[in-house]
Amino acid sequence: MTLTVTRVPHACVLLDFGGRVLRTDPWFSERSGYTGVSRWCSPRGPGRAGVLVSHGHYDHFDPVAFAAYPDHAVPFIVKRGLAARARKAGFGNVTEVDPWERADLGGLRVTAAPARHSVPEVSFIIEGSGQVVFFGGDTLRIAELDEVARRYPRIDLALLPVNGLAIRPAFNRQIVMTAEEAAELAGVLHARIAVPIHYRFTAGPLRDRVLLKYDGTPERFAAALQSAAPATRVRILEPGEPLAVNGATPAPPPDSPGR
Ligand SMILES: [Zn+2]
Repeated sequence: MTLTVTRVPHACVLLDFGGRVLRTDPWFSERSGYTGVSRWCSPRGPGRAGVLVSHGHYDHFDPVAFAAYPDHAVPFIVKRGLAARARKAGFGNVTEVDPWERADLGGLRVTAAPARHSVPEVSFIIEGSGQVVFFGGDTLRIAELDEVARRYPRIDLALLPVNGLAIRPAFNRQIVMTAEEAAELAGVLHARIAVPIHYRFTAGPLRDRVLLKYDGTPERFAAALQSAAPATRVRILEPGEPLAVNGATPAPPPDSPGR
């Protein structure tokens, strides 16, 4: 059985466990700085086995666009409190979870894990094809995430947010881990492979100047891993670029910076 991860943009990835494809944090909007287009971005794209939603921000949960998805029976697993929005978009198979609650998706085991952000959030552990994946959504690096390493001593793939988002009007309150904090977490998780996510978003030049600031890039994440988690291999994936995870020793990051 194989596991392939394909980054879409931002925190949306496809996890293909031998043909069972999960989609995380669906976002299809062209606004707020996202200008890339690929077939993976289409709401009609893959995600047959299920859709995971870490929290309700529009760049992670776009149920209006996703209403175009042809199979409205596709299972949604969402942070508790978000089911009504998925159902309103026409999806009837919705399961709400809080940390350490589980759901089974046809042989894939999904377990919610702790997260902290500016709104209620969970992260996820997904087990399938003999592989264990941690999906970090856009959480802060909180101590509760150490429990993931205790419960899952082997993490094959860690998908970690790296942009260190902070809110300027809230006294620069940080709401997402930085690249260096993500690298430290990769080491704690003993992740075999790490793929940075959540660095596509901007609010545009004007709003960034007054509302948001960022403290992390995928390149900084890769550099920080060299000391924080030397056993972890990193891959920076272009949108639509697949990576085979099973037993793979991935090639070094490409010279061109991926987004
Ligand atoms: Zn968010």
